[in-house]
Amino acid sequence: METKEFQAESKELLNLMINSIYSNKEIFLRELISNASDAIDKYKYLELTSEGKIPSKNYEIWIEKDKENRTLTIKDNGIGMSKEDIINNLGTIAHSGSKDFVSKIKEAKEKNDLDIIGQFGVGFYSAFMVADEVEVYTKTLNDKGYVFKSNGETNYTIDECDIEDTGTKIVLHLRKDTEDEKFDNFLEDYEIESLVKKYSDFVRYPIKFNEIEKSPKKDADGKEIENEYDEKVVTKTLNSMIPLWKKNKKDVTEEDLNKFYKDNFSDYEDPLLSLNLNLEGVVSFNSLVFIPSHAPYDLYSQNYEKGLKLYIKGIFIKEKAKELVPDYLKFIKGLVDTNDLSLNISREMLQDDPRLRKMSDSIEKKVVGALKDLKNNDFDKYLKFYKLYGDHLMYGIYSSYGYKKDLLGELLVFKSLNSEKDIDLKTYKDQMKEGQKVIYYASGKSIESIKMLPEIEKFRKDGINVLFLTNDIDEFALSMMGEYEKISFKNISEHDKEELNEDEKSKLEVLEAENKELLDNMKESLTGKVDEVILSNKLVESPVCISTKNGLSLNMERTLNEGPQGEQAKASKVLEINPNHEIFKTLNKIKADKELVNKYSSVLYNEAMLLEGFDVENKSEFIKNLNDIVIASLKK
Ligand code: ADP
Repeated sequence: METKEFQAESKELLNLMINSIYSNKEIFLRELISNASDAIDKYKYLELTSEGKIPSKNYEIWIEKDKENRTLTIKDNGIGMSKEDIINNLGTIAHSGSKDFVSKIKEAKEKNDLDIIGQFGVGFYSAFMVADEVEVYTKTLNDKGYVFKSNGETNYTIDECDIEDTGTKIVLHLRKDTEDEKFDNFLEDYEIESLVKKYSDFVRYPIKFNEIEKSPKKDADGKEIENEYDEKVVTKTLNSMIPLWKKNKKDVTEEDLNKFYKDNFSDYEDPLLSLNLNLEGVVSFNSLVFIPSHAPYDLYSQNYEKGLKLYIKGIFIKEKAKELVPDYLKFIKGLVDTNDLSLNISREMLQDDPRLRKMSDSIEKKVVGALKDLKNNDFDKYLKFYKLYGDHLMYGIYSSYGYKKDLLGELLVFKSLNSEKDIDLKTYKDQMKEGQKVIYYASGKSIESIKMLPEIEKFRKDGINVLFLTNDIDEFALSMMGEYEKISFKNISEHDKEELNEDEKSKLEVLEAENKELLDNMKESLTGKVDEVILSNKLVESPVCISTKNGLSLNMERTLNEGPQGEQAKASKVLEINPNHEIFKTLNKIKADKELVNKYSSVLYNEAMLLEGFDVENKSEFIKNLNDIVIASLKK
């Protein structure tokens, strides 16, 4: 016999389980049955792909109770575990959901929100909520049998033992009853039956249970004898066995879907959206798709795996078939079951199978369609969705090089200058002013910083709406999109004179000619920072702003330079000066003092960058210049 220690994270989780004061401990049964069902799936898959080498069996899950010894046993004839499997699966936290759980539960404890426990898929360790000793007897193909025993504290033991058939038997030695908690209840027939119905009705293998049926004893004349009973053991199948996704759609309620999602995808919250799909086509399949109400905790981590569970002919094949989900929808969860793929196909071959691509395309269309409906019918809920995943839609447009603009463009919504509420592109278009030719947008780190942009002043004054882009990806997506219903997008910080009418243009040209020397000097002193210094009538109250040329904005430059490739992008900047501002008039007065002009230029440049939401590059130089300007002005 070997004694081993649980991995550190496991100890933490076990500790939480053992000391849990959570009332909904009954979920342990769901967890163990779900493991049993997965184990049978794995065996069945091997059997079906073994060309007769692995024998078929009557696949069953058994629940047994022993009132005298206070044990409850869950048994399957699935794949079983090798010694290594035991160490890796039971001695270690096997799945990431449990890790998430540990952190969530700590949070919940602090907030006294213990209800959260039962809503997580916590797996095998949940057994320790109800048992103070757990024995696992298991045998896999072509291996000896093993028994794992533990009281859930620091250690467990593994020993060899004789087991005939492959499969796993888990014996729970139930905890002693306390005043508040009656573990004995789990040995009552009605309790076991109702827990299976409640949590495991859709399990695809029969969950069998021997019940003692009592009938009144009869005397020789056939008359019932009072208080005496005949007892007969009857084997019952406790579950209905039809998977939710195979049920008639009209018999499946939203509540069923919510419950199914929470039980199977380790979540404690109802999904934001559920789709129950039954699709016919090149490949026919059933699918349940869910959009979680909160982004999966590791969605933005490199290790996040997208994908849907894949079943072929009702048999579980793969936890995450990534081919079924386009990248930009990686946040969706769910499953697919098809009869049109062969079980004999290897998992590697499956990856390249064009039929998965076809299924992915149909799922994508359905999800997008459902989102459109949500947007039209429940805009507030749609905004909740958009807040969580809107950047993914943008990514979808960007990563398809704009190819998906028609599919996804309709789903985009924005905060904007003229309305409190988010608007979509159609609304923007409908509200465009007469003569307005483009859709204006402004980008920045936050709404507040965009509202402070000097170049927005004119739009505010003229009542022209401007879309606000605050996610890094947004501007890249819109530039890939290029246009919406033939109307192009335009960043309000993009430098161009096209916006001006002839009169305005010629006035500015005259002014620029008059101030050529000053502007040239300023440009020279800002060499390397800006490519042009010009006079503009974009500004109302601010003295200066920075605009960019050639399609790469300051925010795009920042995003690219923050990326893994480092400093690579360089936006072409233009310092625009407001000719009507006092500052410009003062500049004109000191233009002969070249040194002071340099200082002004530098300060104005930094001021403009600050308003664009960027930091001053060299703070001490900025302050020195500012002080020198103050001193010079006070001297006069
Ligand atoms: P999860 O099932 O979410 O992976 P668990 O903690 O419940 O997490 O189980 C860990 C692993 O132990 C499973 O992934 C599986 O490999 C193995 N396991 C658990 N129960 C069984 C069983 N009845 N038969 C075979 N393997 C099992």
